[in-house]
Amino acid sequence: MSASGSRPTARRIVGIETEYGITCASSTGDAPPLDAEQAARELFEPLLQRHRSSNIFTRGGGRLYLDVGAHPEYATAECDRLEDLIAQDRAGDLMMTDLAERANARLAEAGVPGRIHLLKNNLDAQGNGFGSHENYLIRRSAGFFQDAQALVPHLVTRQILTGAGHITADPRGRVRYCFSQRAGQMQDPVSAATTRARPLINTRDEPHADAEHYRRLHVIAGDSTMAQGSTLLRAGAMDLLLDYLESGGSLDDLALAEPMRAIRDTCLDLSGTVTLERADGGTITPVDLQAEHLERVSEHARRELDLSDSQHSVLDLWDRGLEAVRAANPALVATELDWAVKHQLLARYAARSGVTLDDPRMARLALAYHDIGANDGLRPRLEQAGLLRRWVDEEACRQAVSQPPATTRAHLRGTAVGRAEDLRRDLSVDWVSLRLDDGTSSTISLKDPFTTRDERVDALLEAMESGPRGLPTGV
Ligand code: ATP
Ligand code: MG
Ligand code: MG
Repeated sequence: MSASGSRPTARRIVGIETEYGITCASSTGDAPPLDAEQAARELFEPLLQRHRSSNIFTRGGGRLYLDVGAHPEYATAECDRLEDLIAQDRAGDLMMTDLAERANARLAEAGVPGRIHLLKNNLDAQGNGFGSHENYLIRRSAGFFQDAQALVPHLVTRQILTGAGHITADPRGRVRYCFSQRAGQMQDPVSAATTRARPLINTRDEPHADAEHYRRLHVIAGDSTMAQGSTLLRAGAMDLLLDYLESGGSLDDLALAEPMRAIRDTCLDLSGTVTLERADGGTITPVDLQAEHLERVSEHARRELDLSDSQHSVLDLWDRGLEAVRAANPALVATELDWAVKHQLLARYAARSGVTLDDPRMARLALAYHDIGANDGLRPRLEQAGLLRRWVDEEACRQAVSQPPATTRAHLRGTAVGRAEDLRRDLSVDWVSLRLDDGTSSTISLKDPFTTRDERVDALLEAMESGPRGLPTGV
């Protein structure tokens, strides 16, 4: 008799931050009329007008912002269900697309011969990298650094499943298809610095929650994901691995001797069989390492866990994704995982037109895969043609623009932000607090990210209804 587990995985908050690439393409063939920074400022102009800030929290509970530089960013609200995370992540694309359409309409009206494109990828035309961070809530424990180290081999090799695919030149200058844009940008396994020495895991201790009980595991290493299957697998696999580690499981015997060399070697080898040196003196391939992770997690699930449907999908996709690499047959996951979707797209084009991977038309096609514009990007057409599978329908994604996840603190934040917008009240918001800027209210601290009800927030909503209203913004 197979022992069947009896508990769900520990509840966990997960959020994804996406930095978007931005360009303004000239419609006359001349130099672009706006550089990336100017285009980003143009994009955020309506937010500045309306909120006097380019850093705002949304009705959906997420955060839209523009730091210095040229990468508009969206961070999803806190999610504790994979379906919500997929919807929230896509909601970010929809909000950005909407901003881009409005910016393009203004440019057209002003006679500026250019069109803004937003790209959900990780490298710009000059080779500068930008990121897609994952955030996982974990319990504060003495073993944090050990667990972070234990996850390094997974983060080094998961690109064979969740990499977004990329056309690159290998060290000998040959143009080829590889797994990830992000792999080549990473410099350190685990560290507290983000920009100078981009680590796979950033250990800056900023939990966005009660610091006595929680830490936030901040993963910097992933490629931005277009395919919902890739989003599902990258977050779902990490969640299951964390549950395994938190339940006393170990991955220590799989430590790699040179993780930063391994991440580059793994990236360039589509067969998944490149030899990686292990810290214990042996060797292992990326496919075998991932298969071993999958086996341990599956065994853990069989013994202890009662998985949700989407978690079953994670294990199934993990398994089929590995089979696709093993069999050198991307078609096995060609509608589900980014690297394979894009691989098939390029292969079909090559077969039709006879062009090879080093042709600029191939690079343009690969880039169009990451364009989130409703008319410029390939996603809608691929979805319609059945070439890109959905786990969450478009309607649910659209709803996530203005509806926060119901089961986390984001519900309180999103509700308060929505009410404040409707009533034109000034509200100061961050991940862990809310404050009405009327000089009378004090700050409400929301340190438990699982809270969905709070009397102080109820009172705040009431105070907004009854208190004096601010001037309509923009006046
Ligand atoms: P930076 O952009 O400088 O890296 P940051 O890492 O603090 O700053 P934000 O861009 O503000 O990041 O995004 C924070 C992300 O963390 C969001 O996606 C959010 O949903 C998620 N998050 C919020 N609270 C928690 C928590 N307690 N545990 C895990 N994730 C959280
Ligand atoms: Mg961020
Ligand atoms: Mg971050």
